[in-house]
Amino acid sequence: MARLRTTAPSSGYTVLVVDDDDDLRITLCRLLEVDGHEVLSAASGEEALRLCRGQDVHLILLDYFMPGMTGQEVVKHVRTFDPQVQIVLQTGYASEKPPRQMLRELDIQGYHDKSEGPDKLLVWVDAALKTFQHVRALHASRSGLEYILKAAPELHRLQPLDDLLLGILLQIQGLLGFPSAVLATLTPERAALAPSGAVLTTELQEFTLRIGTGRFNHTEWAVLTPAEQTLICTAVKSGQAYLGPQIILPLKAGERTLGVVMVDNPGPGNGDLHLLEIFAAQAAVAIENTRLYSLATIDDLTGLVNKRAWLMRLEETIQLAARHAVPTSVLLLDLDHFKAVNDTYGHLAGDHVLATLGGCVQQHLRRSDVAGRYGGEELAVLLPHTPAAGALIIAERLRGAIERLPLRWKGHALSLTVSIGVASLPSTAVHAPEELAVDVFARADQALYEAKRQGRNRAVQDTEGAPAL
Ligand code: GH3
Ligand code: MG
Ligand code: MG
Repeated sequence: MARLRTTAPSSGYTVLVVDDDDDLRITLCRLLEVDGHEVLSAASGEEALRLCRGQDVHLILLDYFMPGMTGQEVVKHVRTFDPQVQIVLQTGYASEKPPRQMLRELDIQGYHDKSEGPDKLLVWVDAALKTFQHVRALHASRSGLEYILKAAPELHRLQPLDDLLLGILLQIQGLLGFPSAVLATLTPERAALAPSGAVLTTELQEFTLRIGTGRFNHTEWAVLTPAEQTLICTAVKSGQAYLGPQIILPLKAGERTLGVVMVDNPGPGNGDLHLLEIFAAQAAVAIENTRLYSLATIDDLTGLVNKRAWLMRLEETIQLAARHAVPTSVLLLDLDHFKAVNDTYGHLAGDHVLATLGGCVQQHLRRSDVAGRYGGEELAVLLPHTPAAGALIIAERLRGAIERLPLRWKGHALSLTVSIGVASLPSTAVHAPEELAVDVFARADQALYEAKRQGRNRAVQDTEGAPAL
């Protein structure tokens, strides 16, 4: 076997020439090299199969009569592991089976009579490689759709918007191989909910847009060119797609445009725009669902989950904890003398304090902890997988952080303290989960009352859940 290399501009295709006649094979290889194809050659069916298994072959020009394995047998073997490669069968005798019968009986794409000369063969080669291109595109499209179907449940899982946006970017990269996808979504949320890491809220003209990009590991408008910024804004305003050096697709929920996806245009034949459109439609629905979910579950002022959502999380967590025998703790926080803040500086000052408090609490917890606004100036914190001793440490950490908050309102320094009730469910809880939720909450409430009674600005632990001495 000789591997022949071409010096002509590459066509990107690899053609395997299989013929036991050395002269014919070498002539044919040279002819194909002139056209810029990568050419492999084999003198027998066995050698041809070895080559096909070892590398990516797009077209096989296959002699029908060969000692050992015939062309017909080679076709059957190849088809057991490669349904896509194009095969043109060649014969020196026009008399065997009629060409149409051959094409029908065997999984081949062409049939060439050697006596017709090389020009005819090259027509077959061109036609077969064109077909291969279509087959490959079809295959890519099908696997892309399969990818979207597999990615869809992950997109539609309930998750924080920032996680979703990052997930969408990664999926676009995985789906289409675009290394530089940009996702910009209009964000109605307040800056307090601004994400960190790969997604960021920033102002551009009258839009507040959220951008994530895989192109850079930081994400600010500045990473986009002014022309790209303008294109994104125009696409958001018009809700229309843009096709140029970049492709910009609107993310739409009904008539509303939520944002856009932007990728570098990969050029004709190198990326499936249709797939990206299907994916963008899925992504838009997922973004809208997440937005609606957060509207229904997030408290506007503090950015924490609301009471209903917190209670749901409490029940879910306790159910899991009871099943897996892991401890769970609950903190109830109540601001000390908060009424005085409102009375002295007004309700806006009080609201400002509550918003700051929400951020502060969130900042001092793990991602798996759930902080919620339970009532006016009462917060509840759920600490999964946390025994009583750990809960007391976290309560003390929160108390100290709130005490040290550098709060100001219209030039006045405000001091703020909090009382905390701590209650825990040991890992060996025996009651039904619903009872446990009620019980742990009531005990945290009782401990909070005790903290107030003892003089405020302290964390008090319910003794039932306290570690044994
Ligand atoms: P204590 O240390 O005993 O908890 O004293 P307190 O003043 O914090 O307690 P109390 O329950 O009597 O008062 C709670 C106050 O919280 C009443 C109300 O003025 C204030 N508050 C509740 N919700 C909000 C809110 O959404 N915004 C503002 N600004 N104030 C609120
Ligand atoms: Mg209160
Ligand atoms: Mg209070």
